[in-house]
Amino acid sequence: MGIKSITVNYDDGRQITLDTDLKTTSIKRPIKQIKDGAKVNGLRVEILLAFDIAHTIFSSYGVDTVMTEGTGGTHGKASLHYVGLAIDLRTRDLTPTQQLEARDKLAIALGAQYDVILESDHIHIEFQPK
Ligand SMILES: [Zn+2]
Repeated sequence: MGIKSITVNYDDGRQITLDTDLKTTSIKRPIKQIKDGAKVNGLRVEILLAFDIAHTIFSSYGVDTVMTEGTGGTHGKASLHYVGLAIDLRTRDLTPTQQLEARDKLAIALGAQYDVILESDHIHIEFQPK
């Protein structure tokens, strides 16, 4: 009996597991992912930049950054999704408190040219310079 391994979670999302001989047994790092079926053709570089920045924030919670929709799906008629300037990101791997925090951090990191909206099961980001 006793402890067989120790897992250390770093602020940047790395999760490193050591066995009792302090040998590294695994290193897990959050990744960017596109949900199977999400439409990505026509996504513009302005919103891909936001996906990249969002990953630094999601990673800090140790979770993957999953794009659940890009240019597909059903949205309002004037939705920026259809012109490649909006994405949705999965929030179910975050606690409700982390979801609110992540939204606020994203809004600060992306600045006034982007809108960040926390919906029931995702964070919607759109590029909409005023
Ligand atoms: Zn959306």
